[in-house]
Amino acid sequence: MSTNVPGTTRPPRDSEFASVVADVASCRTCAGMAYAHVLGAANGPLAARLLIIGEAPGRLGAARTGVPFLGDQSGQRLDVLLQASGLNRSEVFITNAVLCNPLAREGDQVRNRRPRASELASCSSFLERTMGAVPAPVVAALGGVALAALDRIEGHGLTHVSAEAGRPRAWAGRTLIPLVHPSPRTQGRRSWDQQLADWKQVGMIVANAPHVDPSIDQPHDPVT
Ligand code: SF4
Repeated sequence: MSTNVPGTTRPPRDSEFASVVADVASCRTCAGMAYAHVLGAANGPLAARLLIIGEAPGRLGAARTGVPFLGDQSGQRLDVLLQASGLNRSEVFITNAVLCNPLAREGDQVRNRRPRASELASCSSFLERTMGAVPAPVVAALGGVALAALDRIEGHGLTHVSAEAGRPRAWAGRTLIPLVHPSPRTQGRRSWDQQLADWKQVGMIVANAPHVDPSIDQPHDPVT
C-alpha cells in the first residue's frame, strides 16, 4: 500500500459496491416498506467527490423512477441547489439512509412517512458498505434522518439539522456538511435563499477537496 499525500484520496471499490447492490436487491428485512432497493449505477459515479445522503426513496420520486431525487418536487429542488453549487448530477453520488420507500396507509390514501428507527438500523450496514465503496471526501447529509443514519456509522453527536445546516466539520476522515432536506416542507426551517447559499458553499468545499488518486488507499485530511 502506498502512502497517502495531501490533496488526494483513495479510489472507489467497485467490487465492494457490486456486492452491496446485490445484497440490497434481495433484502426484505423491513415489513413496512414498499421495496424499491434504490442502489446501483444510477446513483452516480463511485469516484464522485461529493456523496449526498437523503432520507428515503419517495413514492413519486426514486421509488418510481429508480433514481434518487428524480421525479418529485424534492428532486426538482435538489437540481436547482446543485446548480447553485456548480455541480451536476453526473459528478455526484446520491443515496439514502434507507433504500426502500416507507409508506403510511390511511384508508385509500397512501403517503410517504419518516423511516422508523428500526428501519434505519436495518439499512445502516448497507449505507456503511456503500460509503466504504465511495471514497468521496465530502459528504452532505440532507435532513435529520440522514444525519442520524451517519451518526450510527460513526458518532458525530449532531441532532438538530436546522441549527447545524451549512456548518462543515471533520467526520470519519471526510468533511461532513449537514443541510436541510430539499423537500418543500423544509422551507419554513431554512429560507430558500439560505439553502442556495449553503449549496454554493458546498461547491466551494468540493472544489478544494482532495481528488481520487488510483495509486493510494488511505483516508484524506478533512477540509473544514
Ligand atoms: S430499507 Fe434497507 S434494510 Fe429495509 S428492506 Fe429495504 S434494503 Fe432492506
